[in-house]
Amino acid sequence: MRTKLTYILVFTLCLVFTSSFTRLQPPGKDKFIVVLDAGHGGHDPGKQTRSGLREKDIALKITLDVGHELEKNKDIQVIYTREKDEFIDLEERGAIANRAKADLFVSIHCNAHSSQANGAETYVLGLHRNKTNFEVAKAENSVIFLESNYEEKYAQYDVNSPESIIGLTLMQEEYLEQSIYLAGLIQDNFRQKLNRHDRSVKQAGFIVLHQTVMPSVLVETGFITNTSEGKFLSSSRGQNAIASAIADAVVDYKEHMGTNELGITSTEPVAEVKDIIYEDVTFKVQLAASGNNIATKPYNFKGLRDITKAREGKLYKYYYGATSNYTEINEKLAQAKKSGFPTAYIVSFKNGIKTPVDHIVN
Ligand SMILES: [Zn+2]
Repeated sequence: MRTKLTYILVFTLCLVFTSSFTRLQPPGKDKFIVVLDAGHGGHDPGKQTRSGLREKDIALKITLDVGHELEKNKDIQVIYTREKDEFIDLEERGAIANRAKADLFVSIHCNAHSSQANGAETYVLGLHRNKTNFEVAKAENSVIFLESNYEEKYAQYDVNSPESIIGLTLMQEEYLEQSIYLAGLIQDNFRQKLNRHDRSVKQAGFIVLHQTVMPSVLVETGFITNTSEGKFLSSSRGQNAIASAIADAVVDYKEHMGTNELGITSTEPVAEVKDIIYEDVTFKVQLAASGNNIATKPYNFKGLRDITKAREGKLYKYYYGATSNYTEINEKLAQAKKSGFPTAYIVSFKNGIKTPVDHIVN
C-alpha cells in the first residue's frame, strides 16, 4: 500500500514540474512575482548567540523590509512564506512559490560560527564544491528534523551526505544561470553599496532550493556571531540596509530579464560562480615530509610541476601549488592524489604563518 501511494505522489509531482517548465510566463500574468522566504521560525530558532540574537527574528525583519521595498514597485507582487514567528516546513516553503508560479524565490538567513568570521554570501543550488559550503547547507537543512513526519517527506535526503542531495534530479539546474545572475547582483550590492565583506556566490545542496521550479537563491546575510556584524544585523538600520541591497538586486534582475525579446527569461550565461579567494592566505598541497633534501624536479614528484620545499626543524616539507584560491587548491589536491600521493593534504599560510586550514575556511 505504501509503495503504491509513493508512486502516485511522484507521478503527480512530475506533472506539476513538467507543466511549469513549458509555461515560464503563464498567460494573463502581468506582475513579476517574488516569493520571500524568511528562514526558520516558530520552534526552530535557527542559529542563536549567547547574547540572545536569533536567526529567525533577524531573517524575518530583513525579509519584511525587502517586501516593503519591493511593494513600492507596482509591477512586482510580493508573497511571503511567513510574516510572523511561525514554523513552516521546507517543503511547504517551495510549494508556496510553485503554486504562485513565482518568478523568483529568495530565502533569507544568517550565518554563525565559533570564530569571528564575517561577511555575506549568496547560495544557488548545486554540487557542493567543498566541505565548508556543505556544512552551511547541512546546518540549514537540519531543520527537517523538527518537522513531525520528516522520515516520510524527506526519505530521499540524507542531510549528512552531500551525495544524496546531489544525486537527485536537479530541477534547479534549468534555472541555474538566472539564479547565479541574481546572486551576483545581491553580492555586488552588499560589497559596493554597504561595504560588507563579500564571501561571494557559492553553490551547495540546500533542500529548500530543491523544492522550487524558478530561479532561487539563499542569502546568508552575515554572521550574528561576529561582534560588529551581529550588532549591524540586529539594528533596524542594518536590517534596512541589507534589505535595500537585496530589493535593488531583485529590481535590477527583473529589468535585465525584461529587456529580452518576448519577455522570455534569459538562459544566456551571465555570470559564473566565483572562485573562493582568501586574501592574505596561501594554500599549498603538502605531498611529503622527509629528512632528505630532494631536488624539486618533476621526475622526483611523479611528474608534478610547481613543487616547492621548506625546511621545518629536521624535516623538509614538499609542497605542490601555491594559491589564495581555495577552489583551485582543492583541484590541485585531487590531482596530487591521482598522481600517487594518496595522503596529500592542504596546508595554509596566513600572512606567511602556517595556520590550520579550519581556522581560515569557515
Ligand atoms: Zn538559516
